[in-house]
Amino acid sequence: MHYRRFGKTELNLSVFSLGTMRCLENAESLHQVLADAIGRGINHIETARGYGQSERYIGQALSSFERSKLILTTKLLPDSDVDRLVDESLARLNTGYIDCLAVHGVNTPEHLQQVKAMLPGLTQVVADGRVRHVGASSHGSLDVVMGAIALPIISFINLHYYFFNQRNAAAIKLAHQRDLGIFIISPGDKGGQLYTPSDRLRQLCAPFDPLLLTYRWLLSDPRITTLSVGPALPAELNWPLQIADKTDSLTKPEQETLARLHQTQADALGTEHCRQCYECLPCPEAIHIPEVLRLRNLALAYDMTKFGQYRYGMFERAGHWFPGRKGNRCTDCDDCLPRCPEQLDIPTLLRDTHQRLKGPERRRLWSD
Ligand code: SF4
Ligand code: SF4
Repeated sequence: MHYRRFGKTELNLSVFSLGTMRCLENAESLHQVLADAIGRGINHIETARGYGQSERYIGQALSSFERSKLILTTKLLPDSDVDRLVDESLARLNTGYIDCLAVHGVNTPEHLQQVKAMLPGLTQVVADGRVRHVGASSHGSLDVVMGAIALPIISFINLHYYFFNQRNAAAIKLAHQRDLGIFIISPGDKGGQLYTPSDRLRQLCAPFDPLLLTYRWLLSDPRITTLSVGPALPAELNWPLQIADKTDSLTKPEQETLARLHQTQADALGTEHCRQCYECLPCPEAIHIPEVLRLRNLALAYDMTKFGQYRYGMFERAGHWFPGRKGNRCTDCDDCLPRCPEQLDIPTLLRDTHQRLKGPERRRLWSD
C-alpha cells in the first residue's frame, strides 16, 4: 500500500480508503471488512452519521485495532448542531476523537452559508480536541465546490472527479493550491459502475481492466490523496488493491489507451458530441443539459447504458444530491441553442437520451 500526505492535515493516508456505506449488513460483516482492509494497509476509514448503523458498527469493532494507527472520517450535514452531533458520533464510534469531520453534502449556495454559520461550533470542537481536522464533501456545481474549497476552516475536500467525468478539474487544481487533502468519492461506482463494465468498454481498454486503468489515471495524479472503495465483503477488496502500490506516472501504453478512449468518444458522437463546456445553462426548465448529454456520450461511445440509466434515473429523485430535471421536460424554448458552441440540436438530443436511459428510478442510499 502506498501512502500520501493528506494536504495540510499532515496525516499520512493510504491511497485507498475504506468507505463503509455498503458493508452494513451487520456488525460482524463490517468487522470482517475492516480487519481485512487494515491488514492490507488501509488506514483511513470513512463513514457518516447518515450511513445507517455504520458508525455504531465501527465503534464496536474499534477495540480490536490500534486506534492511534487509524484515521477516522465521519460526516454531518450542513446546518447541524455541531456540538451535540459530534458527541453523538464520538459515542457511537466509541472513540475520544474524530480525525476528520466533513460537512456532508455542501451542495448549494445555501449550504455554503450554513457552513459559515457552523464555524463557531466547528472551531470549538477542534479547539477542545474532539475533532482534529474539518473538511467538506460536495456533490454540487463547480461554483459551489470552489466556494467550499475556499472556506478557511477546510483542510480536506471529498469530490467527484473521474476519468469519465472531469468537470471538477478546476476544483482539484484549486484544492491543491490551497494544500487541501483530496479524497475522491467512489470512483468505481460513481465513476462509471466500473466493477461491471460493458463488453465494449472492456475491449477498448484492453489489455487493461477498465476499473484499474481509471484508478491508475487518478493514482498517477500526485495532487490526489486517496480513493474510496466500498466493499460489501472482504473479497471485493482484492480487485482494486492490486494496484495499491502503482502510483507512479502513467505508462506509455496506459496513456495511449486513455487517448484511444477519448478519440473513440469523439468518433462515435461526431457532430452530436457534447463537449461539457456548460455554456448552455441555465435552462428555464432546470434540465441539467450537460449531465444528461454526458450520460448520452458514455452510452453511445462505450455502451455504458446501464450506468447511464442508473444516474439518469436519479434526476428529480435525489434533490440537491443530483440536481436537475430529465430531458423529456424540454419545451423547445430554444434558449440554450445560441449558447452552444458545438451548435448541437439540444432538444432532440435530450429526447433521444430520455428514450435511451429512462428506466427504473432510484434514490440515493443514505439519509440523515
Ligand atoms: S430548449 Fe429545452 S433544454 Fe434548451 S433551454 Fe429550452 S427547455 Fe431547456
Ligand atoms: S453548450 Fe453544448 S457542448 Fe456545451 S455542455 Fe451544453 S450542450 Fe454540451
